[in-house]
Amino acid sequence: MAEEKPYKCVNCGESSAALYKTYGPSVLKLTKCDKCNGIVDKYIEYDPVIVMIDLVLVSKEAQRHVLYNTEFKAYWKLFIILIMIETYGLWRSDSLFNILVHTACGIETNNTTLNLTQLPSPLRWEAPVWWQRQCSGWQPEERDERDLFIWEKHFYVQFISTFAGVAAFILTVHFAMKMLQPFISQNETRFSSLLKAFSLANVSILLTLPMLVWGSDPEAETRAFHYGLVFVYSFAVHLNTFIVLYECPMAITALVLTASNSMKFLATYHTTPLIRELLH
Ligand SMILES: [Zn+2]
Repeated sequence: MAEEKPYKCVNCGESSAALYKTYGPSVLKLTKCDKCNGIVDKYIEYDPVIVMIDLVLVSKEAQRHVLYNTEFKAYWKLFIILIMIETYGLWRSDSLFNILVHTACGIETNNTTLNLTQLPSPLRWEAPVWWQRQCSGWQPEERDERDLFIWEKHFYVQFISTFAGVAAFILTVHFAMKMLQPFISQNETRFSSLLKAFSLANVSILLTLPMLVWGSDPEAETRAFHYGLVFVYSFAVHLNTFIVLYECPMAITALVLTASNSMKFLATYHTTPLIRELLH
C-alpha cells in the first residue's frame, strides 16, 4: 500500500507525508520536499498575520498552505458570510453587477433612497434585444422606507439571485475542469476542495466594503472605477487559486474563469426578474 501523503509542498505542490518531525519535546525539524528540496511548509512556523498578508499579495505558497496543510474546516461559514456581503451590495443596487445592468437597461435614478450608477458615457452599451425582457425586473420598485417587511423581502430575493450566480460560477468551474482534467493533470480534484478554494479566493469581495460603507456619494466614475478595480483583483486571486488547485496552465484557467464569470452574471441577471414575477 502506498504511503499516505496528505500534505503538499507549498513551493512546488508535490505531496508529502509530514510537515515536520519532532525529536524530543522541544526539538522540531521541518520536512524537506523530495522534489524541489525546499522546506515543505515554512508557514507552519509563521504568524497567521504573515500568512494573511501573503494571501492578500496573491502568493501561491500561502494559498497551498491554507488549502492543503491546514484544517480550514470553517470554510462554509466564510462561504455564507461572503455571499451575504455580496447580496448586500446587490440589494443596495451598488455593485459592479448593478452598474452593468443599469447601463445595459438604461435605468436611471428616479428616487432618492437609491443611488443608481451607470458606467461613464464612453463605456455605455445597450442590452441585446433578448435581454431586454429581463430589464423590467431590475427596475427599482417603489420602496416605502418605513415598510421593513418589503426591504427584507428584497434582501431574500437578492440573496437567492446571488446564490444562483455563485452556484453557476462554481458548477461551471467544476465541470469545465472535469472535462479538461485528463489533459492537464492526473490528480482528481474533489468538489469540497473547490468550495474551499472558492471561499478563500472570494475573500477579495471584502474590498467592496469601503465603498458600500463609506462611499455614500462619490462620483459615478469613482464608483465604477473602484468596483472595476476590485473585480480585476478578485479575478487575479481566483485565477491564482484555481491554478494552484487544478495545476492547470494560466491561459486555460483564465478562459474557464471568464466563462464562469459570464455564467454567474447571466444566472443572477435572470433569477431576480424570475422570482419577482413569481411573487407577484
Ligand atoms: Zn517542493
